[in-house]
Amino acid sequence: MVLEKPGAALVLTDRARPEPGPDDVLIAVEACGLCRTDIHLQDGDIEGCAYPIVPGHQIVGRVVEAPSGSGLLPRDRVGVPWLGWTCGGCAFCERDEENLCGEARFTGCHRDGGFAEYAAADQRYCFPLGDHLDAVHAAPLLCAGLIGYRSLRLAGDVERLGIYGFGAAGSLLAPVAVHLGIEVHGFTRPGDRRGQRFALERGCVWAGGSDERPPAELDAAIIFAPIGALVPAALKGVRRGGRVVCGGIHMSDIPTFPYADLWGERQIRSVANLTRRDGREFLALAAEAGLEPEVTVYPLADANRAFDGLRQGAFDGAAVIVP
Ligand SMILES: [Zn+2]
Ligand SMILES: [Zn+2]
Repeated sequence: MVLEKPGAALVLTDRARPEPGPDDVLIAVEACGLCRTDIHLQDGDIEGCAYPIVPGHQIVGRVVEAPSGSGLLPRDRVGVPWLGWTCGGCAFCERDEENLCGEARFTGCHRDGGFAEYAAADQRYCFPLGDHLDAVHAAPLLCAGLIGYRSLRLAGDVERLGIYGFGAAGSLLAPVAVHLGIEVHGFTRPGDRRGQRFALERGCVWAGGSDERPPAELDAAIIFAPIGALVPAALKGVRRGGRVVCGGIHMSDIPTFPYADLWGERQIRSVANLTRRDGREFLALAAEAGLEPEVTVYPLADANRAFDGLRQGAFDGAAVIVP
């Protein structure tokens, strides 16, 4: 499924199998998760995307061909995340911040991704995946799960956490945080009773609208909904010294707010991409916690329906596309 240019629908296209480069593994795709970033790619919100592009950066598949010395064998299951390549030599790469590398290349943005039958990916950035989850349930871990985990890591020392938005990332992070002994409070659109019920099912001790205050002060809040107005709203519920972490790649403008709401050493920070270390840590934690995403499955030819469904909030949890 090819996205020819911003604003277009995806088009089902016949293409030759991708030719793997010297460091690449060729993968037969089993499933690929849909992420809000894919919506932003379709809307032209992300600079530098190499249209026409096959989107999709939560790829689970089986190795068809691997470079010698990679340790990968045909039929091995691998996962391909958003971070597809980094330079390895810049100041960011050298201090374990490869997520900030200025030369980084992203799956389904700079090189073709997983809304296809086959994909090629640099094997050094792939994660070996076991068979304890099926492909459809493993796919959302690779971005939604990982970004949630990195957001939690950047939230600092947290005992009481707020999560804004219960799409794929929020619904995966809540049970992981609960597993780590954190008390989780969920925020949805005001009046979204179905969303609030879902947040409680995913382990929250309290769920309410984003216009409500939590029953107790939070150590940190993580915002997954792409709505800038949630930043000052979340700040009001966070304790002195606490953090508001913005987990999305794109957000509408943040409205002005009184300095008093930031006072008391409160912090606001964004989360950009992921490192391979995040991936290894999170996938181990997900297995330990028995994390199983709630998924809605769409066939590859129906990818546009999945995109529309995500835009409209038509399903709980994550959408996954299968060829
Ligand atoms: Zn993503
Ligand atoms: Zn670099």
